[in-house]
Amino acid sequence: MSIAKLVKIQKTFFHTGTTKDYEFRIMQLKKLQQAILYHEKEIIHAVNKDLNKSEFESYLTEIGSTLKELSFTIKHLKHWMKPTRVKTPLLLTGSKSYIYAEPYGLALIIAPWNYPFHLIFSPLIGAIAAGNCAVLKPSELTPETSTVVAKIIHNTFPEEYITVVEGGVEESTALLKEKFDYIFYTGSTHVGKIVMEAASKHLTPVTLELGGKSPCIVHKDANLEIAAKRIVFGKFLNAGQTCIAPDYLYIHKTKKEEFITKIIENIEEMYNQRLENGEFTKIINARHFERLQSYLEGHQIRYGKDRDETTLTFPPTLLDNIKWEDKIMQDEIFGPILPIIEFEQIDDVVKAINEQAKPLALYLFTESKEIQQQVLRDVSFGGGCINDTIFQLATPYLPFGGVGDSGIGGYHGQASFDTFSHKKSVLKQTTAFDFSVRYPHKKHSLSLIKRFFK
Ligand code: NAD
Repeated sequence: MSIAKLVKIQKTFFHTGTTKDYEFRIMQLKKLQQAILYHEKEIIHAVNKDLNKSEFESYLTEIGSTLKELSFTIKHLKHWMKPTRVKTPLLLTGSKSYIYAEPYGLALIIAPWNYPFHLIFSPLIGAIAAGNCAVLKPSELTPETSTVVAKIIHNTFPEEYITVVEGGVEESTALLKEKFDYIFYTGSTHVGKIVMEAASKHLTPVTLELGGKSPCIVHKDANLEIAAKRIVFGKFLNAGQTCIAPDYLYIHKTKKEEFITKIIENIEEMYNQRLENGEFTKIINARHFERLQSYLEGHQIRYGKDRDETTLTFPPTLLDNIKWEDKIMQDEIFGPILPIIEFEQIDDVVKAINEQAKPLALYLFTESKEIQQQVLRDVSFGGGCINDTIFQLATPYLPFGGVGDSGIGGYHGQASFDTFSHKKSVLKQTTAFDFSVRYPHKKHSLSLIKRFFK
């Protein structure tokens, strides 16, 4: 079926009103839950073939996280759907004010390859919960997962409700030509601009979940033992191909050597075995492998085992004495290389970060409340952690998204429902009486109105 026809049949289906019922939405969410559980092994197998992800990592970051989002949404949907009554000013005595969450209509969801299952299903949960129809476009760089995603969707939902269009730039471009009611895009900042430009032609609202260079700062008073463990986990998870991975490390000069030793100990403890067993997530393709290799040129590698181009295995690697002028600091790394920069004054760190595009995440390790406050006040970033990495996205109570170059909008938990819902404001007026002063021809009405607006 052509993309134009697909959009047409979804539009017709949406206007039947079927997707708006609470019972319908819940049933679809439960069907999705069952389908994911049923295909669990296939999903793990596909993600492993695409990215060499271990079963543990696949479950944690692809399946488990999606199931958690589903169960949370199922539990709270009734409450979220209720119209919210808000106050009404004295001027409008006799009326009541409500905010209704209504579905936008047709949602287009475009996903990247780094968490190829989770990043397509997680926004879909929000789209279903809010009562929309949806077209999904998985990444072409993870073809095995794309096939499983398409199979799950085609076996679970009729295409006039939810469907998948597989393919790459060509298919994405064709989809973007159509008029959708909402576009939810996850991927690079560069393509995010293309998506927003296409959306502007139809005045379609967008959520853009983009990337960037997320700083990780370790101050001299930090608990170094814990910081090293949490940074190594967050940086090398998925071989560093995580949008909110710490991109680079700022470490206080007086603690640098001690901290690097701890970082190396943790890398060896967490990943040596996996590397030996061939279970370390691979780099997505040769182009990205070469891009990452090029960051090493001209630098002495502080730590890092041999890379293997044939299997695209790129072990955790540390680069020391890095400066902002270095090639590795010009773009998001999106791979398992951790550049290390030392600092003496936190003010210098804040200044340097603020000279860059606003990051998607920021991680700060310190026991000092003053430094926490200073960084939170003075640096704008999508979201982040104090004394941890990555886990800001593990709670449905925190909206997840970027700011500036790292994105527009947010999702997870109720924020997903809100993202895919238009908030319709309605004033319900009484007809029991009618204040004459509101009409222009009445005597004294101007002076009375002036009193009300004071
Ligand atoms: P990408 O932008 O290359 O591709 C993402 C999607 O866009 C794919 O489905 C692709 O087919 C499509 N696409 C690519 N080029 C297009 C074009 N010219 N026109 C229309 N569609 C196009 O991104 P990627 O390489 O798959 O993902 C990596 C980036 O995504 C990183 O920057 C990372 O930080 C970011 N990311 C962000 C989040 C987040 O939640 N904020 C999550 C994961 C990844």
